[in-house]
Amino acid sequence: MKVIYVTGLGRSGTTLLDVLLNAHSGMAGVGEVHKLRGFARLQRCKNPQSIDRIGNSCACGAEDIWQCPFWTRVNAELEERYGRRLDDLDLEARNRATFRRDNYELFAAVAAVKGVDYVVDSSKRVSRLRRLLKHPDLEVIPVHVMRNPKGRANSVRRRKGQIFRPTFQYSYRSLRLFALLFKRLHIVVRYENLASAPEEEMRRIMKQIGLEFEPAQVNDWASQDNHNLAGNGVRAAKSSEIALRETWREDLSLAQRAGIDLLSIPGRTLNWLKELRWRWAGHEAASS
Ligand SMILES: [Zn+2]
Repeated sequence: MKVIYVTGLGRSGTTLLDVLLNAHSGMAGVGEVHKLRGFARLQRCKNPQSIDRIGNSCACGAEDIWQCPFWTRVNAELEERYGRRLDDLDLEARNRATFRRDNYELFAAVAAVKGVDYVVDSSKRVSRLRRLLKHPDLEVIPVHVMRNPKGRANSVRRRKGQIFRPTFQYSYRSLRLFALLFKRLHIVVRYENLASAPEEEMRRIMKQIGLEFEPAQVNDWASQDNHNLAGNGVRAAKSSEIALRETWREDLSLAQRAGIDLLSIPGRTLNWLKELRWRWAGHEAASS
């Protein structure tokens, strides 16, 4: 069982990569699957006003995962092979045995329903990646997606008004991923490269994963079957157009840019060192 784990920070292009990977015929994307229990238990909520239902829909357009043909098939598969339902699973269990069993069974059910060998988990969390990497029955391929910290900070600023907090987060997350991945085979993706030359980047990424690139991944990804949980609006896009978003060039003042550049030096340095080591390493070559 192979799991592609997309990590990095939100507002960095992780959802874009997730949908492009999901568009491959040999892969099934499940999005931020660590939130599955929240999605699965939504129907039990007695007061629908108390939960943001819009935020709990499936990427296919279903109002919730119990209305979605894919997730209901995954649920049936789980019940048959494991005797448990989606809302019983604890994918973030503290208990190691439960964590390993529940995650394995979910990935196996998803792979069986879609008839693939690879499942794409875009939960992003570093702690979850660390635990999955220790799973004896999963082959986990980490993919670190990073974005220019000015672009990410501006994206967060537009939603929450913060600008330096996302920059601290950038350096802190970069440090944690450096510690976890510097000595471990993984794939590095820069949002700016992915959005400006998607085919070139996807060819490289697929080669590192060990699968053949499929043109639909960049030409027709929006019309593929997609049942990702959470993520941003890209997951439900109607058009397969990919555009590089660099509004920070107009939005940020010179002082703001200088501040972000200064605060992100530790993170950028660590990311650069890590990328230098792994960017061009082929998957098979480096694991042999
Ligand atoms: Zn769906």
